[in-house]
Amino acid sequence: MRSLYTKNQIRRWPKGGTHEHFDCSIEPEFILQRCSELGLELPGEFATQWRMTLDNTAAQSAVANEFQEFVASGARQSLKNYLDAIGNYVLPVLQTPEDLYSRAMSRFQRAHDDGLIWLKLRFAPQLHRLKGLTLRQVMEPMVAAVHDSPIPAKLVVCALRHENGRLGWHLGNTCIEHSMDVANFDLAGGEGGNPGVPLWWAKQAARVQKKTRGRTKPSIHLWEEVEPTDEDVRRLRQYKINELAHGFRGKRQGNRVCAMCITSNIVTAQVTNASQHTIDALYREGARVCVDTDGTLFTKTDYTQEYQLLVETFGWGPQDFLQTNLNALSVSGFDAKTKRALEAQLRSGYAS
Ligand SMILES: [Zn+2]
Repeated sequence: MRSLYTKNQIRRWPKGGTHEHFDCSIEPEFILQRCSELGLELPGEFATQWRMTLDNTAAQSAVANEFQEFVASGARQSLKNYLDAIGNYVLPVLQTPEDLYSRAMSRFQRAHDDGLIWLKLRFAPQLHRLKGLTLRQVMEPMVAAVHDSPIPAKLVVCALRHENGRLGWHLGNTCIEHSMDVANFDLAGGEGGNPGVPLWWAKQAARVQKKTRGRTKPSIHLWEEVEPTDEDVRRLRQYKINELAHGFRGKRQGNRVCAMCITSNIVTAQVTNASQHTIDALYREGARVCVDTDGTLFTKTDYTQEYQLLVETFGWGPQDFLQTNLNALSVSGFDAKTKRALEAQLRSGYAS
């Protein structure tokens, strides 16, 4: 289907971001620059190539594109490959307060340029302690970036499925300490070996929700790789979990907001192409979906491209995006006054 809207028009539509991972959204140029400064080896001599083209912008941008394609191709075909790529290429260069702050600021600025009017940025602070930072020292620059962001922003703290209640307790405390800036305590990572809604995380998420008087709510990556079960639905209900990351499998979403990331699901081989994705069918049946990227590095996408994909594949238009953004706004974590202002921006942006 040919798009009725130009890319520039779609870029200007106001958008809210519910589901994007900080470490999946780092610019390839930054990774090359920091690896070359830190003397870190990259396969394919990319760091050397980068150093050799320092005075030639066009050549440097070609190296960055080639490098992005290289890391993106390594991340394809499974969620495990995708998660491994984060550890191989991104985490080594995100281990100082300065790098955390500068990349978070850069992400908020790029989001603004992409038409986002707010962004919840998720990350796992425990992965940024490789050079000895404490959880608190990781959080400080990220919270500072939220405060300095050109658009309203919140953080989401992710525990990972292979972790345990002991680390979950510390991450829960981190959420409680920063609850003004942390919208969710999330569970991320591969469902394959650790499916469902694990009790160690659900209990910590419930503790956080109670201690922050509902300010920091649970969200969970679910039904991305594995089909829903009765036990999943029972625990979601029991622990009042109303936001799912992905959640595109099955028909057990109920009234929960599901942040769907089509290109990411194609990259990790959960679906073969956009037309096979359930987002449109679920939306038409009344499910509360919203549109997200998961990240920009391995998927080589952004919000504008995801919207364009929906326009071209399913014929979505402004009224559909208004609805999905209102769904996203309901789980944005902002106070009532900020939500009212953002809702007004959405309604006027999609009015014409
Ligand atoms: Zn995710």
